[in-house]
Amino acid sequence: MSHRRGFIKSLSSLPVIGGLMPSALSAAPARRDYFKELGVRPFINAAGTYTTLTASLMHPDCVAAIEYASRQFVRLNDLHDAVGKKIAGLLHVESAMVTSGAAGALVVGTAACVAGKNPEWIRRIPDIAGTGMKSEVIIQKSHRYGYDHAVRNSGVRFVEVETAEEMERACNANTAMALFFNANNNAGQIKDQQFVEICKKHGVPSFNDAAADSLPVENLWKWTKMGFDLVTFSGGKGIRGPQSAGLLLGSANLIEAARANSSPNGDTIGRGLKVNKEEMLGMMAAVEAFVKMDHAAEYKEWEKRCKLVQDSVASIPSIKMNVAVPEIANHTPHLHIQWDPAKVKISIREVVEKLRTGDPAIEVTPAGRDELVMNFWMLQPGEAQIVARRLREILKAASA
Ligand SMILES: *Cc1c(COP(=O)(O)O)cnc(C)c1O
Repeated sequence: MSHRRGFIKSLSSLPVIGGLMPSALSAAPARRDYFKELGVRPFINAAGTYTTLTASLMHPDCVAAIEYASRQFVRLNDLHDAVGKKIAGLLHVESAMVTSGAAGALVVGTAACVAGKNPEWIRRIPDIAGTGMKSEVIIQKSHRYGYDHAVRNSGVRFVEVETAEEMERACNANTAMALFFNANNNAGQIKDQQFVEICKKHGVPSFNDAAADSLPVENLWKWTKMGFDLVTFSGGKGIRGPQSAGLLLGSANLIEAARANSSPNGDTIGRGLKVNKEEMLGMMAAVEAFVKMDHAAEYKEWEKRCKLVQDSVASIPSIKMNVAVPEIANHTPHLHIQWDPAKVKISIREVVEKLRTGDPAIEVTPAGRDELVMNFWMLQPGEAQIVARRLREILKAASA
């Protein structure tokens, strides 16, 4: 790198060649409209951080870090160590690693609990029967969800419990881990704190999936401080890191084991969940930006956008609106809108379709048939006005 810098510097000190620099040697690629070339339509995101909608836009610091990392080679594990250490410091936890998303963290975190650092066991996963590896993962029935496949990948089977007594009885010598789905804290009888206590009492590693729960920002250390051995967050949701990255936080021993079960190590369950140097550094830069940003000011901005949309459709006949902020998971104002179809003659589904196919295209939060839901945290400056105008146009035309 220093060679290249030195080279560019010496060139730019030459008056004539220096003038040619930007086009001839600078890194900035020519501006191409790739999406247009490909016929893929971008849209205004009034939906939220959904993977199929590409979730969030990376923070500029994250993009800069990715760009920086793309120009030089480093030994991957050196970077993995250093980035993990830096993130652990920022998030007040013993140890941390960048994973391929929260789902990837579930895979390698489970493997860490099942195989530890035992090289033979790491190779054997998911064929764990008859090896001495523990094969049961305790979960509350109300916490079963679509991401538990990432845990089952390691060859374990779930043991469902409902009460604290059941959980105590379920803990045995074959228990590898206990999984907690953070967003369902209120749905289960065993709340986070008690869950941790039971795990500690029985020496069972506890894993909290808090993927979408990065707000308020203190959440990033709340559950490791509470005593969970492992906690994961998505990198590319509210934190605005790379969409394909995530964080696994926890005890040094388990993070080391998760690393042993991960790429770049070849014969591991995590080899296919590769994280490149760009994502590692980008994730670190995103976390740095996230912990130091003014979250209160940002929240006010979301409320302002929400109010703007509410005001624009307030005069539509029969319109009913309420603003809800989920306590956990996507802790940001969501606007719920309903109307009487006899007064406004258009269905929710038709409005969603009109927003999607209009110009510019707008995506709203996937919801049921009886209400329209939007939120505002992924909007870019000026887009709330566009969303407000389009919604008003559509509803007004239908209520004429
Ligand atoms: C989004 C999400 C995941 C998956 O996160 P990725 O970063 O996309 O892998 C896992 N668990 C929960 C609860 C989520 O909301």
